[in-house]
Amino acid sequence: MPRKKQFKSESKRLLDLMINSIYTHKEIFLRELISNASDAIDKYYFKHAGHVDASKFEIRLDPDKENRTLTISDNGIGMDADELEENLGTIAKSGSLAFKEQMEKKEDNTDADVDIIGQFGVGFYSAFMVAKSVTVVSKKDGADTAYKWVSQGDDGYYITESDKEERGTTIILALKEDTDDEDYSQYLETYTLENLVKKYSDYIRYPIKMEVETQ
Ligand code: ADP
Ligand code: MG
Repeated sequence: MPRKKQFKSESKRLLDLMINSIYTHKEIFLRELISNASDAIDKYYFKHAGHVDASKFEIRLDPDKENRTLTISDNGIGMDADELEENLGTIAKSGSLAFKEQMEKKEDNTDADVDIIGQFGVGFYSAFMVAKSVTVVSKKDGADTAYKWVSQGDDGYYITESDKEERGTTIILALKEDTDDEDYSQYLETYTLENLVKKYSDYIRYPIKMEVETQ
């Protein structure tokens, strides 16, 4: 069993806010993950100075009701083990820090006043608003080995070797159980996902694909 690694303390605080969040705009997690997927495809494209088959670029959404997971995948640049650790174990970005500071200023932690979460690019950790566990499987462009990052958010993460054929990143969200106040199951509905993509990710220049069952 690999050793469990701890989040940096700044990250931990932000994660706590996410996990325990009672905001009405949890749905923005999808915007954040799609925007990361799009950034990753951009990075791949620029790394190769555009000498790539851009017609293959895609971001996929795969809701799985049976397993209660929502998977978001891209064929962008991917991450190696060090990058998984660095990028997902630390908050580097100013948006997240600003968000955290705003949240800490608020005393009651309700969403009554401003939709703080909508104002910042909160990033990857927003996945923990809807997921009890997050698995990231990634294979970096040019690498032979893929790696898996797994976390329940609260107390650290594991990184292990993993199997993945294609370059890019796959993020598997194990959705939280529904409560009287929160309907997480809606993120397994193609209808909801389509609407969220229209609402928040319309500007993304790569195709966002989802298999839709037809009768
Ligand atoms: P930001 O996108 O503002 O940098 P995030 O918290 O959204 O912050 O993501 C943190 C970092 O994790 C990104 O900068 C990127 O390096 C890495 N990352 C997240 N998702 C992906 C992905 N799908 N493919 C490649 N790298 C990713
Ligand atoms: Mg981001």
